[in-house]
Amino acid sequence: MNILNYISGKFTEPDSGEWLEDLSPATGELIALIPKSNQNDVNKAVHAAKEALPQWSSLTNLERANWLDKIADKLESKYEEIATLESKDTGKPISLAREVDAYRSVKNFRFFAEMIRDLNNEIFEMGDATNKVIYKPVGVGALITPWNLPLYLLSWKVAPAIGMGNTVVCKPSEMTPLTADLLMKTIDEIGLPKGVVNLVHGDGIGAGSPLVSHQDISLVSFTGGTSTGSLVAKSAASSFKKLSLELGGKNASIIFNDCNLERTVKGVVRSGFLNQGQVCLCGSRILVQNDIYEEFIDKFVLEVESMKIGDPSDENTILGALISPEHLSKVEEYIEIAKSEGGTILTGGYPDLSEEYKNGNWISPTVIADLDVKSRCSTEEIFGPVVTIHKFNTEKEAVDIANNTRYGLAGSIWTSDLEKGNRVAEEIHTGMVWINTWLHRDLRVPFGGVKDSGVGREGGRWSLGFFSEAMNICTKHD
Ligand code: NDP
Repeated sequence: MNILNYISGKFTEPDSGEWLEDLSPATGELIALIPKSNQNDVNKAVHAAKEALPQWSSLTNLERANWLDKIADKLESKYEEIATLESKDTGKPISLAREVDAYRSVKNFRFFAEMIRDLNNEIFEMGDATNKVIYKPVGVGALITPWNLPLYLLSWKVAPAIGMGNTVVCKPSEMTPLTADLLMKTIDEIGLPKGVVNLVHGDGIGAGSPLVSHQDISLVSFTGGTSTGSLVAKSAASSFKKLSLELGGKNASIIFNDCNLERTVKGVVRSGFLNQGQVCLCGSRILVQNDIYEEFIDKFVLEVESMKIGDPSDENTILGALISPEHLSKVEEYIEIAKSEGGTILTGGYPDLSEEYKNGNWISPTVIADLDVKSRCSTEEIFGPVVTIHKFNTEKEAVDIANNTRYGLAGSIWTSDLEKGNRVAEEIHTGMVWINTWLHRDLRVPFGGVKDSGVGREGGRWSLGFFSEAMNICTKHD
């Protein structure tokens, strides 16, 4: 199967004539060839988006919201196909691909359709004048996404970006092109005006970098690793592009002795290992109050070991494969570092799978205790099925440990004392904290991080704000 770029309403081969391999994380088999796009492909895609801008931005919010709903309807009819492709491309379990990826991709379009339909100009009256704030499109946007939640994150950007009247060029991860291609086919089928959404496949250097630095790009929305985010920020800064960066995380789960232990163990296992720990929000540093530490560990390890790992297409599978051999090596390296730093592996190793999976990227969920809270494994983003567990005594100690990383994305607190939960939450230097839950998402709330986890917020009205330019018109009364 050859996947193609989508430029100005046409599926096109790459200018270079070169292709990249998309491999199955579960089996190592070749799934598809994708364009190795270069500056020329990027130029064509940006040109198409620029040409489409005047017409598209002149539509009303209502007209654009109706287009978003049409995309949602068509995507919804492909719900099972989205889940199947996502599971195949990422190695994640089919049940997760349905519940999280397929569900949210459709919901993102519906949610922003509704928000944009309800969007009104804001009025601020003065004694002698009226201010009217209107929201105008920014221009042509570059939307760059990672491999862990491919369509979920792409639709999270495309919907508000085009909904607010911008036209876009997307660059998904080269490792997970299938559902981005499905979205382009969907957009083509419903007849969205050509050039409104364009997509170039390829790697970061060949396609992502020229896209970000292109002179006709006015806005960059990037989700990915912190070091790539830093390159993107440098490239975008010199021409003052509007920039949103959603980057890495190293999130703490703080467990107090007054929590509901059964529910907490289940919640913290989910938070540590969902999508094989490959979610930026995963709670990979688990801080447990001293007096329940042993009891928590016993129950936690038992629950971790009960997760079924293997065939992503099996309905009962909880954990699938890691995205690539390189990523597996990175995770393995961190486990070796943990051992050399004095860590004790409470559970881990490799799953015993059938011959079919021998070339896949497999590792069992790994729990590490006895590490210093400043150790590398406790403070650096591993982005895999590896968690470290630490003890604390007081609230202050828990907060200090939670805050001692360069990241500041999310966290969770588990306690039956909600006053304490809220007090501690406010002390955590992150963009988001959950109390007695994790990844419980209301799409209206701000999403994003502080410190090295990113710049800016997306979600709800924050997305609408980012993907538009607010303009004030002040009229003096007679
Ligand atoms: P990367 O930073 O490696 O890649 C992200 C995207 O950027 C990919 O499409 C990549 O292309 C592209 N890219 C790479 N280099 C450049 C460049 N110089 N200029 C422009 N684009 C470039 O991240 P991963 O794909 O490995 O994703 C994992 C990371 O994403 C983790 O750190 C995770 O925490 C973070 N993340 C953050 C989220 C958040 O909301 N805060 C959500 C999800 C993930 P290619 O890979 O094809 O080379």
